[in-house]
Amino acid sequence: MYRNAKNVGYYMIGKGALSQLGDLLTTRREAQDGPAVFFLDHYFEGKNLAERLPVEHWDMVVYVDTTEEPTTDSVDGYTARVREFLDGKTPCALLAFGGGSTLDTCKCVGNLLTNPGKAEDYQGWELVRHPAPYKIAVPTLSGTGSETSRTGIICNEAKNLKLGMNSDYTMFDQVLLDPDLTAGVPRNQYFYTGIDTYMHCFESLSGSYRNVVVDSLAEKAIDICKRVFLSDDMMSDENRELLMIASFLGGMAAGFVGVVHPISAGLSMVLHMHHGLANCYALSVQEDIYPTEYRDFMTMIERQGIDLPKGICRGLTDAQYTALYEASIVHEKPLTNRLGPDFKKILTKENVIERFKRM
Ligand code: NAD
Ligand code: ZN
Repeated sequence: MYRNAKNVGYYMIGKGALSQLGDLLTTRREAQDGPAVFFLDHYFEGKNLAERLPVEHWDMVVYVDTTEEPTTDSVDGYTARVREFLDGKTPCALLAFGGGSTLDTCKCVGNLLTNPGKAEDYQGWELVRHPAPYKIAVPTLSGTGSETSRTGIICNEAKNLKLGMNSDYTMFDQVLLDPDLTAGVPRNQYFYTGIDTYMHCFESLSGSYRNVVVDSLAEKAIDICKRVFLSDDMMSDENRELLMIASFLGGMAAGFVGVVHPISAGLSMVLHMHHGLANCYALSVQEDIYPTEYRDFMTMIERQGIDLPKGICRGLTDAQYTALYEASIVHEKPLTNRLGPDFKKILTKENVIERFKRM
């Protein structure tokens, strides 16, 4: 069976593109009566972003707390607030301004506005039944590829499970990329999130489930990431625009990951570590599994002066080490993708725990 693959409908890119958001939204207001709902990363609270946006007095602005990454509970909470505000009206658009956490929150809330039940009911593949309201992504942090991917990732704390709502309905309808928006990102954060694209793409390319379109996008995204992170200044004007493009391509390429993401998911579930940073730790102990990428990554970290302090898993209890192992090894599909069906012979419990201890 061939899959009928969807891409984001429209995208606009360029320095200062944010000033054209009003035009895009006017078209939406003409197409659909009803307010717009703006999801802004809480970093922008008290900054002047909201004033620069085409917000009308009948619209809603929601600040998304990204201290922790999205959970089924946080998504259910935002959905309840937005639903109460809408009071039965269909929004003309949902708009998200932030990194992966804010974009994913908007994507998941969108699905829940038109589908009954709770966030956890839709963690998986093709579970969303009804189209979501029109959605616009405006990334302020590059790397996750959430702006173009068909998933919104959420942690289910009760089930110890990090899994997305994978559906065409999850995707944004419009993306606006303005590199001015990433100018103020702290350097470490910029790297931790930006390198997520590089990881998605090399994991996909070194796996066994492949197709030529996805490979082509992934190869280009990797080229761009290397150009950015092996340069002298990853945050120059030109490099911030390039990284936005790499993230955009990487999100479209989002296919199957390999061993970095499962180990990273373990750190996120058990130690509540943020995704980008957790990826960095995960790759830092996989010199045998991804030798070339490991070497390039170490050079990038050094060149950009990025912090990755050792000892994050020192002194944990046996129960915590077991939880780390279990929250990693449960991701059978990606582990098989890189290591084959016998992956548990390589990633034994001892082997995995030893890797965590070296971080
Ligand atoms: P994030 O959205 O969690 O944000 C990280 C930090 O950066 C936050 O403190 C935020 O306030 C801050 N920030 C954002 N924009 C800023 C700006 N312009 N200036 C200063 N600070 C800013 O980080 P992320 O790495 O983009 O997203 C991680 C989430 O994305 C995880 O939940 C991960 O699972 C998910 N993810 C989703 C996909 C997907 O396809 N949907 C893919 C990969 C990862
Ligand atoms: Zn990722």
